[in-house]
Amino acid sequence: MKLITMDQAKEYLGQEISIGAWVTNKRSSGKIAFLQLRDGAHFFQGIVMKNDVGEELFDVAKSLTQETSLIVKGIIQEDTRSKLGYELLVTGIEVVGESQDYPITPKEHGTDFLMDHRHLWLRSSRQHAIMKIRNEIIRATYEFFNQEGFIKVDPPILTGSAPEGTTELFHTKYFDEEAYLSQSGQLYMEAAAMAFGKVFSFGPTFRAEKSKTRRHLIEFWMMEPEMAFMHQDQSLEVQEKYVAYLVQSVLDNCDIYLDTLERDKELLKEYTQLPYERISYDDAVALLNANGFDDIAWGDDFGSPHETFIANQSQRPIFILNYPKAIKPFYMKEHPDRPEVVLCADMIAPEGYGEIIGGSEREVDYQRLSEQIEKFGLSKEDYSWYLDLRKYGSVPHSGFGLGLERMVTWISGTEHIRESIPFPRLLNRIYP
Ligand code: ATP
Ligand code: MG
Ligand code: MG
Ligand code: MG
Repeated sequence: MKLITMDQAKEYLGQEISIGAWVTNKRSSGKIAFLQLRDGAHFFQGIVMKNDVGEELFDVAKSLTQETSLIVKGIIQEDTRSKLGYELLVTGIEVVGESQDYPITPKEHGTDFLMDHRHLWLRSSRQHAIMKIRNEIIRATYEFFNQEGFIKVDPPILTGSAPEGTTELFHTKYFDEEAYLSQSGQLYMEAAAMAFGKVFSFGPTFRAEKSKTRRHLIEFWMMEPEMAFMHQDQSLEVQEKYVAYLVQSVLDNCDIYLDTLERDKELLKEYTQLPYERISYDDAVALLNANGFDDIAWGDDFGSPHETFIANQSQRPIFILNYPKAIKPFYMKEHPDRPEVVLCADMIAPEGYGEIIGGSEREVDYQRLSEQIEKFGLSKEDYSWYLDLRKYGSVPHSGFGLGLERMVTWISGTEHIRESIPFPRLLNRIYP
């Protein structure tokens, strides 16, 4: 028997078909039962009419429990009241797997309870909508970078050196050697850019973030484009074009999921308008100080209240440019006229979602880069391959990293990053 999903409803309108599905809810009166069903692709309604199907089948329908799996036969018909636009007039039910006492009921549950049942929580329409948006952002990323002439290169996940300082690193054994889980593929992407020009990666990264925030995961996925013969100002143009493309793709292809999440689509449309504003780090500090933030001085990194205040200066994402050299990683290029700052930018999302992109132009001068490596207490031996990139045809290059789950959280308009990844790893949580 061929099973279809409600994705294909339009093609099978008026025909009798079979669908593999789970029961999410049901209600019934004496003569009619409404089954809320999920086939993986969609949530939809099945209608069982006692007079049409007979007493026996009607009783089966009435006795179905939440999350029972079935093969349901029926005729696809239009249903203008539902978001999907189609429903199923049920003609047959075959139970595949029973489900007793499903723990997640339509009642309210606490976060810890839901997190403990993440393997089941994923079945909810809200989680379905978020994962569809996540999938769309990944799909549109591949599309965008391929259209722009990038190729995907996969940096290693096990590494022998640590780009972003050592406190957030996960250590592991590599036979007899010490190794780390990747915090960023960037240094390898620079090597790839010297080989292939324009490259991007999409892969998992790991950071032992010791603080609990609604923006930090321990394991998260990052898009990291790197571009040869490119200065920072041109990189900003790629970044805003990319982000606007992602927002537009979600608007185009995830309409019903945005509705499920009650996301304000007018706001999202605003985010497709380019360019995004730019503000220097200096001006950002001055603006904060002028507005009563006395907990920040030139040289400090911004916390989330600061980022939110700056982002509120614009209706759209905003770039903060040229941070102090002392608070940024060793590989960022010094500003040619101001050695105390580097050529970098963070893109801050509106609505309090914080930093979604960090990017910079990279130091290309061999001498200056080796001094930086020393200053940061890193091993010259570990970075000898990286220094080679500055020895053989070094060119200006820039790149950036966009955190997938930050993007998903912002576009979905959800509260906490933990819902933007199927199985979140958080401080104190690695189950399930
Ligand atoms: P933050 O200041 O928020 O801690 P960061 O400056 O440490 O972020 P980068 O090293 O610049 O982050 O990484 C690039 C991008 O990866 C960030 O802009 C963000 O979108 C994402 N990111 C960084 N850390 C995390 C995390 N712990 N969980 C989820 N996404 C993250
Ligand atoms: Mg951080
Ligand atoms: Mg940051
Ligand atoms: Mg950053």
